[in-house]
Amino acid sequence: RLVFDDISHSFAPGTETLRNVSLAAEPGEVLCLLGPSGSGKTTLLRIAAGIEPQSTGRVLLNGREIAGPSVFLPPEKRSIGLVFQDFALFPHMTILDNVRFGLTELSREEARREAMIALSRVGLEAYAAAYPHVLSGGEQQRVALARALAPRPAVLLMDEPFSGLDSRLKDSVRAETLAILRESRATAIVVTHDAEEAMRMGDRIALLKDGRLVQAGRAEDLYLSPNDLFVAGFFSELN
Ligand code: ATP
Repeated sequence: RLVFDDISHSFAPGTETLRNVSLAAEPGEVLCLLGPSGSGKTTLLRIAAGIEPQSTGRVLLNGREIAGPSVFLPPEKRSIGLVFQDFALFPHMTILDNVRFGLTELSREEARREAMIALSRVGLEAYAAAYPHVLSGGEQQRVALARALAPRPAVLLMDEPFSGLDSRLKDSVRAETLAILRESRATAIVVTHDAEEAMRMGDRIALLKDGRLVQAGRAEDLYLSPNDLFVAGFFSELN
């Protein structure tokens, strides 16, 4: 369980990117962070990952404070996996080596075994020796997912994971990703600005506006009982 406890953040004096955000991702759930551009979604994800230290508030992982006034665990100590928008695969490394990359604490042989398990979870073990350029965008996204899942992180963070994909591919890759997350019983936080995507993927949705959490709940709760006009407006084009 990942908890954001009263997180505020400013990059510059007088401008608050996040304001008093309290939110939790429950074990095994997919929580979508939804909101317009500039609402603070990516910043919240970066704070969870330890890439950006928050100005105030705390982050807890399974009851343990990982960031707070007197604690700051660096990203590699957090048991948190990251999937970036552009997949960020290393082009000069084989797919196996890409997935093995984060498994530095294991012996070479163990790392190979764990990487192959992760690759088989995403259905790409046959491509272990190939290089990323031979794969389609959707397959590259699955390699990025395998790399993030290989160290068996407590929480997986995904920032606009489908936005780099061709619109024809998006639906199927999204469905595959969700199936992989379910099978891995991963706790995941997925950032998106697309209400339809959030409704399809999220067990729960947290809607942000101007750095504030406006409403969090199941998709149908936000859709049927919006807290305000902003929430209603965000879902109004869906049916
Ligand atoms: P998008 O979908 O456009 O990425 P977002 O909801 O993820 O939007 P953030 O990227 O978290 O929003 O940005 C929130 C605000 O913080 C924006 O106004 C942005 O300009 C500002 N911001 C983000 N990163 C930095 C930074 N490193 N330095 C200064 N300001 C920043």
